[in-house]
Amino acid sequence: MTIAFDNSYARLPERFFVRQPPVAVAEPGLVAVNRGLAERLGLDPEALASPDWIAVFAGNRVPEGAAPLAQAYAGHQFGGWVPQLGDGRALLLGEIVAPDGARFDLQLKGSGPTPFSRRGDGRAGLGPVLREYIVSEAMAALGVPTTRALAAVTTGEAVWRETPIPGAVLARVAASHIRVGTFQYFAARGDTDALGLLVGHVIARHYPGAEGPLGLLSAVTAAQARLIARWMSLGFIHGVMNTDNMAVSGETIDYGPCAFLDAYHPAKVFSSIDQFGRYAYGNQPQIALWNLAQLASCLLPLMGEEGPAIEAATEAINRFADHYQAEWLRLFRAKIGLATEAEGDAPLVASLLSRMAEGRADFTRTFRGLAERTAAAEFADPGPFAGWEAEWRARLAGEADPVAVMRAANPVYIPRNHRVEEAIRAATAGDFGPFHRLNAVLARPFERRPEAEGYDAAPLPGEAVTRTFCGT
Ligand code: AMP
Ligand code: MG
Repeated sequence: MTIAFDNSYARLPERFFVRQPPVAVAEPGLVAVNRGLAERLGLDPEALASPDWIAVFAGNRVPEGAAPLAQAYAGHQFGGWVPQLGDGRALLLGEIVAPDGARFDLQLKGSGPTPFSRRGDGRAGLGPVLREYIVSEAMAALGVPTTRALAAVTTGEAVWRETPIPGAVLARVAASHIRVGTFQYFAARGDTDALGLLVGHVIARHYPGAEGPLGLLSAVTAAQARLIARWMSLGFIHGVMNTDNMAVSGETIDYGPCAFLDAYHPAKVFSSIDQFGRYAYGNQPQIALWNLAQLASCLLPLMGEEGPAIEAATEAINRFADHYQAEWLRLFRAKIGLATEAEGDAPLVASLLSRMAEGRADFTRTFRGLAERTAAAEFADPGPFAGWEAEWRARLAGEADPVAVMRAANPVYIPRNHRVEEAIRAATAGDFGPFHRLNAVLARPFERRPEAEGYDAAPLPGEAVTRTFCGT
């Protein structure tokens, strides 16, 4: 099988990237090919599982038509400015145009050092690769815009972290890998020509209706507001919302220390490196807006006279709050079974959430439990929930089919940390069964099924994972 790559990013000027082939590995071994995604891209899943394509995913063969390159970008990491990051362990192989005309990047992550690697080894461990595979595919099944996992392979080489772990490579698919940090890279260098080209490229690729830099800023603002509202509605914590990890396409990208809430609390943090809670669950909308402000400031030099440009850009990103609130309320209305709109709906949801925080209620199980009449059992003290329930039942009175609305909005199965860790532990010991089973369960998250028994459970006290780590 050959892929008809059409590499639009590689046609941008040379200062956007560094061309380089992947670094071959000792012994490529297939972990998984994502059949559904392969078909969506118009690729033959059988061919992708053949030795020829396993070699491609491992970086041992560059397919015809690919133009491998490491993308340049900068970024704010935990608020601190880093003028040059770039793909230090990833390579864009090329772009695939699906049968419906949609364009996708195909990227290898863990494919060896590049000029952007700084002190890193350019490699990825099996654990982080499986984690990204599981969680990104779960997010896709939950209806969240996200990068996807097309394949995972082992390398037959060890990667040294604190101890030696098996090495792996993820073949990642994305609408693009262009980040807020890509704009920052050129803005920091005063390269207005490159910024103009990048604006044109991103508009053509992601927002064909947008007009100029201001139109682009408005479109990215709206897309991010919708994305973050989705995360919030599922209890998802990204964990490392640096500007280099925010894709301008509006897809979730870079699943490092991400996690789903078990017990609900707005201040919840999992990431071991997020010492001050900058990327806590409840801070995510604010951080997204902060990142958009960085994007806005990059675009100013393209927007004419400074005073009016600042005013227009500020106005554009200030619409984030309205977009976010509207989407948040739309999603949470459905989560509590409402298909109609009434004045007191937002406070009704807020009141449930504050009782959940107090009662340490499991986020996913409580919302699903509303439809299955098991929500009260999620609260340490069911009293406050009973009070809310009475109010809620009164509001449900005129609703046609609230149970159906709730079942469609509240998943049974999410990639809970303890399950992800269990799958990684088994795979590291050579058993990929739990990894495949978990993926199969998460592929249909809204459908309770007997064969998935136990996967809806919250972690037992001894099972809870309280710390997650970066992809490295
Ligand atoms: P991430 O935390 O994966 O978003 O990566 C942040 C930056 O560190 C990017 O520039 C990556 O390319 C780089 N990086 C992360 N891990 C490695 C690694 N193992 N080797 C080289 N560069 C890395
Ligand atoms: Mg990153």
